[in-house]
Amino acid sequence: MIQISIEKTKNSKTIPPSKDFGFGRHFSDHMAIVEFAKTAGQGEVRNWIAPRIVPYGPLAIDPGASVLHYGQELFEGLKAYRGDDGKVRLFRPEMNWKRMQNGAARLCMKAPPLDLFCEMLVAFCKTESRWIPRESNCAFYLRPTLIGTEAFLGVRPSQDYTFYVIGSPVGSYYGEGADTVKIKVETDFVRAAPGGIGAAKTGGNYAASLKAALEAKNEGYAQVLWLDATHRRYIEEVGTMNVFFKMDGKIVTPPLDGTILPGVTRDSVLQILDSEGTPAEQRPISLDEIKDAATRGTLEEVFGTGTAASISPVDSLGINGEKVVIGDGRVGPVSAKLLKRLTDIQYGRVEDQWGWTLPIEIS
Ligand SMILES: *Cc1c(COP(=O)(O)O)cnc(C)c1O
Repeated sequence: MIQISIEKTKNSKTIPPSKDFGFGRHFSDHMAIVEFAKTAGQGEVRNWIAPRIVPYGPLAIDPGASVLHYGQELFEGLKAYRGDDGKVRLFRPEMNWKRMQNGAARLCMKAPPLDLFCEMLVAFCKTESRWIPRESNCAFYLRPTLIGTEAFLGVRPSQDYTFYVIGSPVGSYYGEGADTVKIKVETDFVRAAPGGIGAAKTGGNYAASLKAALEAKNEGYAQVLWLDATHRRYIEEVGTMNVFFKMDGKIVTPPLDGTILPGVTRDSVLQILDSEGTPAEQRPISLDEIKDAATRGTLEEVFGTGTAASISPVDSLGINGEKVVIGDGRVGPVSAKLLKRLTDIQYGRVEDQWGWTLPIEIS
């Protein structure tokens, strides 16, 4: 057990009613924080020091910190679910840790070890238990974040880091349960290129994506479907989610080739499909193939996968201004079944056959 000190706030906030949660708009009373820095009396040796939970509030960081100039930053997203049985569970937190480790290796950062990462999440959830919603389909969204804090303008990796966790009660991402969304196929901007940082959950990828998403919104779409940077032909992701297609009777998703973010939901969906005897193929999928299937009437389903929305069914694609309707334009059976299966596990309604959930003892 790692010692995590707790300083309780003297100004508890009022928790808004669940209908006003939205996504990531209200933050809870505290935050968990730990620094990687020199330790007194140990010369140049750096360590994770003084993990603690403190009242939520502004960070004091040097204006010269590397995160502010060269974008040395990683974040994660996972949820604490309160089940119908009253128990609170995290979903596959070690996958988020692993992804942060991989991202840290790519961005030359130091990330916390697994025990520190998980124990901070657990201690934080225990402190914030009143913020973990009881309403169905709501959850407590956790945002672990890692930033380079050394003040130094030469371009090299920071030596000092801060890792912190903030939390926010959330409803379902798109409002109503499994509403369908309209997606614009993005033929101009790209999200990530081979050799780049597309597989790291880092703010820079999001900064690169904002303009495309904004233009798509102005044209009446919820998000964009990204194509590969080299050929502008192959499907990569949908907005901030991984993407699956059901066409010609088969379920397919693009392979993880370095430009795609390896989603925890994507991995879980692949395992669920495997266990049901309907495995998905992981292979390159071209836009031409999708258009062709749509023409032949065999493009049955498209859905995004991600922690925020879980399964997000797509009703239509806008391809160069032309509207392609998916299936009958409603939530398809595969999307509906996967959404139910995943949330049943997350909310503890069915047996957790893969040991995906980490139960938290809330006193
Ligand atoms: C976080 C993220 C996903 C989904 O990952 P999950 O672990 O399933 O939440 C997919 N694509 C991008 C670009 C992301 O940032």
